[in-house]
Amino acid sequence: MKAAIVNKETGKPEIVDVPIPEIQEGEILFKPMACGVCGSDVIDWNINGPGSFGHEPAGIVVKVGKNVKNVKEGDRIFVHHRVPNPDCRFFRRGHGTVCPEYPQYGFIPSAYAEFTRVTERHVRLDLIHLPDHISFEVGALIEPMATMWRLMSRAGLQGGDTVLVIGAGALGLSAVQVAQRFGATMVINSDYNDWKLEYSKALGADFTINRGKHTLDEIKEIIRESNEGRLADVVVVIPPRIKALEEGIELTEKGGVVSQFGPTGPGEVLTIDPNYFFFREITYAASYSSTPNETKMVADFIFKGKLKVKHLITHHYTLDQIMEALALKKKAEDSLKIMVHPHPDEYFGSNPKDYGPYSFGD
Ligand SMILES: [Zn+2]
Repeated sequence: MKAAIVNKETGKPEIVDVPIPEIQEGEILFKPMACGVCGSDVIDWNINGPGSFGHEPAGIVVKVGKNVKNVKEGDRIFVHHRVPNPDCRFFRRGHGTVCPEYPQYGFIPSAYAEFTRVTERHVRLDLIHLPDHISFEVGALIEPMATMWRLMSRAGLQGGDTVLVIGAGALGLSAVQVAQRFGATMVINSDYNDWKLEYSKALGADFTINRGKHTLDEIKEIIRESNEGRLADVVVVIPPRIKALEEGIELTEKGGVVSQFGPTGPGEVLTIDPNYFFFREITYAASYSSTPNETKMVADFIFKGKLKVKHLITHHYTLDQIMEALALKKKAEDSLKIMVHPHPDEYFGSNPKDYGPYSFGD
């Protein structure tokens, strides 16, 4: 079978031919039907380091180990690539993503594969059945959407808050929707791309700001003018860049929270004036990935049609075309969510590129 993995010697992704994996007692053999491309799949230091190359799949259970009770052959499922140990003290305190067992990647060899083994803890603790009306590609969006749910929880978003989301890629557009579900009365979204900001408005952003067309001072004025003189109570910073974090801090209102989502480069340093935080009681809340608590929560909202996710999908590729998919993701400005389809003939007919992007009338 074919699989895309990171070659540990070259540090580059490649397609390999490997045997279909054998499973152990508590494991399943899983057939990914759609797998989202994540920004972290194109960060070189990440794919060579902690690694979770190919981690947003949904698909079909092909075979189950003899101790598997919660799922059977033929089931349509989402399964998370990383899960905390429920006995872990960090998890019990609400920080499951820093559990020492959390980094264990559950797909062997990869979710960018025709088939993959899913390890026991992942099968048992963070597997969700997809209802018939949910497509695999929508199911694959549970993971990224769950990260934004966790981020809003970490930010302590309160009903009536004004939220600024910096970045209007697939995650920023997810954050815009999740913030509304958390009770934000105003959601503002900024980005450098007008076409993404148009999407954002269609997905419910109250207004949008093109960062490239205004100075930071002008942006402060724009926000204050429409927000009773205040900046944002919660600022969500998606781009993994120091400059975006610095701007996020400046756009946070007194008593507010600025929340970092993306990992900045190794060794990069954010310089802060502690008194800026002190006299304004601003909280810096980092939010990393997601746990079973958030996947269950967002899956329910997605299944009930209360989070619009299929509109985030702009491109489809086959597994053979994965290098093209990764190159497009690396450019960032031309796509939202890109889907890789390891079994395109079964899923779409022969040409996945004929599908999507969806229109908002769908
Ligand atoms: Zn991801």
